[in-house]
Amino acid sequence: MHHAQRRATAMSDALAREMLPADYPIIGMVDLDTLDELFRAAEAAFDSPSPVTHAVAAKAVTLVPMMRHLAELGAGCEVASPGELRMAQLAGFTPDRIVFDSPAKTRHDIDTALDLGVAMNLDNFTELSRIDEHLAGATPKGRIGVRINPQLGAGKIEEMSTATPTSKFGIPLRDEGSRQAIIDAYAARPWLNQIHVHSGSQGMALSSMAAGVRAVVDLVADIHATIGHQQITHIDIGGGLPVNFDSDAHTPSFADYRAALEAEVPELFDGTYGIITEFGRSLLAKSGTMLTRVEATKVVGGRPIAVCHAGAQVAARTIFMPKAWPLRVSVLDPAGEEREDDVCVQDVAGPCCFSGDIIAHQRSLPLIREGDVIAIHDVGAYYFSNSFSYNALPRPAVYGYREKDGAVAWVTLRRQQTIDEVVAEAGGDVDSSW
Ligand SMILES: *Cc1c(COP(=O)(O)O)cnc(C)c1O
Repeated sequence: MHHAQRRATAMSDALAREMLPADYPIIGMVDLDTLDELFRAAEAAFDSPSPVTHAVAAKAVTLVPMMRHLAELGAGCEVASPGELRMAQLAGFTPDRIVFDSPAKTRHDIDTALDLGVAMNLDNFTELSRIDEHLAGATPKGRIGVRINPQLGAGKIEEMSTATPTSKFGIPLRDEGSRQAIIDAYAARPWLNQIHVHSGSQGMALSSMAAGVRAVVDLVADIHATIGHQQITHIDIGGGLPVNFDSDAHTPSFADYRAALEAEVPELFDGTYGIITEFGRSLLAKSGTMLTRVEATKVVGGRPIAVCHAGAQVAARTIFMPKAWPLRVSVLDPAGEEREDDVCVQDVAGPCCFSGDIIAHQRSLPLIREGDVIAIHDVGAYYFSNSFSYNALPRPAVYGYREKDGAVAWVTLRRQQTIDEVVAEAGGDVDSSW
């Protein structure tokens, strides 16, 4: 089955099995076959004579069973906090497959990472001196790199751009004296054997991403010229490949990105360096869908509004920045058949108590009726991990599906949060008598 057909089969099947809870009708679904296909596509596109590790960005997944599946496929994992690190370990990623990238590492984080032997990319010179203190002359078990900000321009979404002249990430390359300071840091530490750049993000052109990698590979050449031999063994090019949220097409593809890199930085693939990628959105977005029941419909000031259960609690970015993060939605009848008739301009509203809680603004859609189901597409990255506890709404369940004998088979990836858990999270489990 093709991706869209498998999704249609899964949506009808989920409704036939009454997987949408009556008291909180919203669930997430992940197409595990699509996830596998995209992971294999990344592997094929980045084929190189040297080892390549696709360290999936944990913040885009954060569902341990999915991380476990990715570990089994041969992925690595990029983590940025003690919680993500713990999840990666639980999922079965061995330390040599974990990259610890937190932008604000405590001494405790650094000690933990060094003791475990995970690879680590440093954000600033303070972190470098903390490592010096911890090591006291010893050699670290895992690879250690420095995150470089090549200080390029911003992409189409300013808030998401990671490599601007004043971005908060990494050590700047173009500021006065900075390049020399980086070279000196490597020359003084024979164990600094990795370098990191993550200059892509949603809204970023492939050529700009490749330019970021180009700048870092030039820096590596300068470092090696100064030291007199090759010290850096691994180049971590980060993630940030954008996703097309307008259709089912996976564009730009991993092969497109490989071609852009090949054109700009051919030596990246000549076998000299191990390559690490940290894809998140591009690996995961296309595999996810949310389903939610339409509770009621009404017309307000001439505008038809359908009220459903997907709002800021599951789609904070889309709700707060609707122009930057629009999502495709489709309208299904109660049996899961896609509606096509009576197209008119409608709002699809969520369950949160503020007026901006609209998942689709003024969208031309088939007329939505009470009891219909709204499918929200391309939510496999970040949407299931970035919950927002507004109005004490629970995190919905997420199920994985696979094609099996012409139908789909299901697995639970996360159960729905209970009301008791929501209350406990709000301090309901604290003894506050004084
Ligand atoms: C968020 C992040 C990623 C993943 O980015 P995507 O845009 O989801 O591919 C990779 N590396 C670092 C350091 C990140 O912060």
